[in-house]
Amino acid sequence: METVDVLVVGAGLAGLHTARLLAVQGHDVLVVDRRRTLDSGIRTTGIFVRRTLEDFALPAEHLGPPIRRVLLYPPSLRRPVELTSSRDEFRVADMAGIYAHALARVRQAGARVHLGVSYPVDGVAARFTIGADGARSTVARRLGLDVNQHVIVGVEEVFPVADGDEPPTFHCVIDPRLAPGYLAWVIDDGRHAHVGLAGRPERLAGPLPRLLRTFGQSFGELPAPTGPVRRRGGPIPVGGVLRRLVCPEGLLVGDAAGAVSPLTAGGLDPCLRLSEVAAAVTDDYLRTGDVSVLRHYDGAALRARFRGRLLMRRALSGVRSPAVTDAAFTLLRTVPGRAAASRVLFGDGSFPDLRPNWETATA
Ligand SMILES: Cc1cc2nc3c(=O)[nH]c(=O)nc-3n(C[C@H](O)[C@H](O)[C@H](O)COP(=O)(O)OP(=O)(O)OC[C@H]3O[C@@H](n4cnc5c(N)ncnc54)[C@H](O)[C@@H]3O)c2cc1C
Repeated sequence: METVDVLVVGAGLAGLHTARLLAVQGHDVLVVDRRRTLDSGIRTTGIFVRRTLEDFALPAEHLGPPIRRVLLYPPSLRRPVELTSSRDEFRVADMAGIYAHALARVRQAGARVHLGVSYPVDGVAARFTIGADGARSTVARRLGLDVNQHVIVGVEEVFPVADGDEPPTFHCVIDPRLAPGYLAWVIDDGRHAHVGLAGRPERLAGPLPRLLRTFGQSFGELPAPTGPVRRRGGPIPVGGVLRRLVCPEGLLVGDAAGAVSPLTAGGLDPCLRLSEVAAAVTDDYLRTGDVSVLRHYDGAALRARFRGRLLMRRALSGVRSPAVTDAAFTLLRTVPGRAAASRVLFGDGSFPDLRPNWETATA
């Protein structure tokens, strides 16, 4: 039987970031992922927001051009509301490159990574197990921690695009028939257009590829005959951070912990931020053996900081009629409406930064 300090299950962004931070602290870390290669089974568009780009060192060579312009479309797709920021707000990453870079850094830090290996892992005993295994976490179930109940589905197709004259633009369609309570999007990473939808699974069943293509072509950007180069999809937890995230045997990070903005369904920023806290708490716990340090990884406290966003999510999910959405666009076209939309899209708010709190709490 092989014994390790920490077994990290899942080599997505959350697992790789947590594993590296713990390996750098000198812990014996083993990462396993059931995918055989990290450039397969990618489940994300890879849109990173400004705050993540400012706070985390992502490799610039794997980031698409900066995007400052957003067009918000009503269900009719007519007269979009244009919002332009004075700052670079979004960049779409080549996620295969991002994962390869993160994997190399994890190995450099001294952790071992076994791909093509599923949890539970035979012949490995871990002092502590980190569940970074996505929205439907097996680690959560086996450790008796909370499990995501509110899950939507994100799907997208990736098409090649020719160089155009338009500045890089994030097209967002708000249409309850397409993506109830959420968005349908077209975004260009410089080489490809990602055309995606997020919504309740029962709404997305049916002729999705046709829907996606029609939707994408309505922007006149997507060459009809070539078809997509890739299809991606997966569950996205949107019920907010789970309450019970930690026990003496392990903890949850990333989608497994429900660490996704309930408002935008963006999870890349939250998974990196929560991983930092998870690594700090795990390091402290493994060094001291003091169970009381685990209370600093408190999902209930985090949820409380999301209350406003969870309420807003509930209100948005209740809008079912395209006519109501079109009417809301009348408000969006006013000065206060545009200001409110800009605050949501370009504001400095992100997943609450937990680190200072945790440091204060342990001081
Ligand atoms: C279509 C789509 C588009 C999205 N686009 C964006 C976006 O543009 N921007 C944004 O901020 N967020 C986006 N999200 C959400 C975001 O991608 C996720 O929140 C984020 O990637 C979660 O990272 P993670 O490391 O927690 O999980 P994942 O990246 O899902 O990694 C989990 C890993 O665990 C492995 N695993 C699972 N079970 C086991 C097991 N039993 N044993 C071993 N390994 C296992 C899986 O193979 C996987 O590699 C999108 C989601 C979807 C579905």
